[in-house]
Amino acid sequence: MSDVIPNEVELRFCDKSRSVKGKLAITRLPRLCDLLSETSGDVQVELNFAIDDRISNQKVRCVKGKLVAQLNLNCQRCMEPMLCSIAKEINLGLTENESELDEIPDFLEPFFAEQGLVSIVDLVEQEILLALPLIAKHELESCPAQQYVLTETKATEAEAKQNPFSVLKELRKDLK
Ligand SMILES: [Zn+2]
Repeated sequence: MSDVIPNEVELRFCDKSRSVKGKLAITRLPRLCDLLSETSGDVQVELNFAIDDRISNQKVRCVKGKLVAQLNLNCQRCMEPMLCSIAKEINLGLTENESELDEIPDFLEPFFAEQGLVSIVDLVEQEILLALPLIAKHELESCPAQQYVLTETKATEAEAKQNPFSVLKELRKDLK
């Protein structure tokens, strides 16, 4: 276990049941950075390397764990920054033979460990990219662009909500 996340670890980590835990700077993930409005902060990484033997006669090297991050995306409605919380469960089957990727059981996502090395940086980046929302948007109520997307129905609703108060205001004026 270590606090400094290495770029890569040996596939043999699985045989030794080793773990990688700590913070990985978002700036180490260039493809992810391209999508962010702000690249400060870290991904909290917890990866446990092991052997999965749920299928008899098939021992599969695997990595399980969790990634947690707060990412600054751009809202696709107003283009303003928005904070997005990501929590991604990791459940990968590892192999150093490309031809064996197909043999990894369905309950594990295949991940290629080229030349017996597991790229932690690639793994984290890939999994975070998979966890991102397809289209990032603020909740409508908190989106600065909401006034431009109010449908006629919603506008009518909003009017209906306002009316009783404005009527009350007028009544109060009359009473004074
Ligand atoms: Zn927005």
